[in-house]
Amino acid sequence: MAKHQLSKSSFIKGLQCEKQLYLYKHHYDWMDPVSNMQQAVFDRGTDVGELAQQLFPGGINSKPETHLEYAKAAKKTEKLIEEGIKIIYEAVFIYNGVLVISDIIRKHRGKWQIYEVKSSTSVKDVHFYDAAIQYYVLNGLGLNISDVSIVHLNNEYVREGDLDIRQLFTIHSLYDDVIEIQSEIEENVTDFKKMLKRKSIPDIDIGEHCFNPYSCSFLGHCWKQVPEYSVFNLNRLHKNKKFELYYEGIVNIEDIPEDHHLSFSQRMQVDSHINNNTIVEKREIKQFLDGFTYPLYFMDFETFQPAVPMFDLSKPYQQIPFQFSVHVQKTKKGEPLHYEFLAEADGTDTRIPFIEALLNLLGDKGSIVVYNQSFERSRLNEIAAVFPKYKKRIEAVNERLVDLMIPFQKKWYYSPGMKGSYSIKSVLPSLVPELSYSNMEIADGAAASHMFYNLYFENNPKIIDATRRNLLQYCGLDTFGMIMIYEKLLKIK
Ligand code: SF4
Repeated sequence: MAKHQLSKSSFIKGLQCEKQLYLYKHHYDWMDPVSNMQQAVFDRGTDVGELAQQLFPGGINSKPETHLEYAKAAKKTEKLIEEGIKIIYEAVFIYNGVLVISDIIRKHRGKWQIYEVKSSTSVKDVHFYDAAIQYYVLNGLGLNISDVSIVHLNNEYVREGDLDIRQLFTIHSLYDDVIEIQSEIEENVTDFKKMLKRKSIPDIDIGEHCFNPYSCSFLGHCWKQVPEYSVFNLNRLHKNKKFELYYEGIVNIEDIPEDHHLSFSQRMQVDSHINNNTIVEKREIKQFLDGFTYPLYFMDFETFQPAVPMFDLSKPYQQIPFQFSVHVQKTKKGEPLHYEFLAEADGTDTRIPFIEALLNLLGDKGSIVVYNQSFERSRLNEIAAVFPKYKKRIEAVNERLVDLMIPFQKKWYYSPGMKGSYSIKSVLPSLVPELSYSNMEIADGAAASHMFYNLYFENNPKIIDATRRNLLQYCGLDTFGMIMIYEKLLKIK
């Protein structure tokens, strides 16, 4: 059995950037570590792939046991086909040095159909190439292909009772497009194989391609000459404008010429950095804070987004709240009291105990302070839409929301340490350096979401306990940090 030089995924890497493909093949150890977010995406892909097999029941899995056994798995696939098996999962093929693993292939009326399963909710441009390279290989091996489709999640599907697999997935044929780009695929395969034989790394500079269609796995290597704070941190500047500056040799914020066109807030960011000065608009801050009414409820939610809806009346990737932290300050000088909720990962809908506990805690008067209110407001509205019995009380809560992000978003307060960002992760360390997320096991919302989702598959009580403690600590810091920010602003006004 032939060895392979390219695989479906390395081919896609090469299309994104030849240097990425070269590094992947020759300098694998330079790759960035896999982040929590990326791991979550991989896990989702596997879960969704296995679920989609139910669309074509009765197939045989040809998946290789390890990544060293592709040739063996390709032999197995060949044998299954020879034996007349009509549905094969994870079918492995190697042709002209290219390895592909097709999620599902099915023989229908004497011809083969290829199904590539994606955990996205639509067909993306890159999927055309994903499908086309499979056609290239299977067709090259002499299989008669009648269709190539992408199977993706249907974001209109609302779960009611058992999962309805046919409703959960949408099948989208790309056959005509795949045929049209076959000569392009052939050329790419030849070019990539030639390129991989070269002794030197392709001379490709960083660019927008580093993030499109995927965030490259070699950012740490290629971007190391870009300082931590650079023109790429300019707030609300389109990526192509940032790269224009970079290609002109302007990398540091302080190197941006005075006559370079920037918006008012971008220029303010640059000037503040150069002069190391903090901008404070006291009048606006005072007016804003005067609108707060005690008792104050500093509130933060955490959510997770299961690709496959876990609960009735939820859709793929819906944000499902599972945790909140609330610090209550009854009076200006009063000590804040802390309340928190973290749902059990036991298969029951986390939204019900979440909203019950929250509404019971929030009372009926006083400002509810959040950071980036559109997030909390949207989650509350989604719960109200699905569970109308909470609608009135949720509407009352929404009316009391105030957004602590506003003074920073509107640049009434800006310090150089915020580095152009007004997210709480930038504002908090800048205003309250003694509080930091940096040493925490869970340091951002994506990690919290990932860790909570993992609890559904965890049996070790020690790990469950530690994860729950870390989740509570993380969410608690968000609302405690908001009090600290509020108090700093009070001192300023
Ligand atoms: S970081 Fe950018 S330039 Fe470097 S390999 Fe990846 S895509 Fe290519």
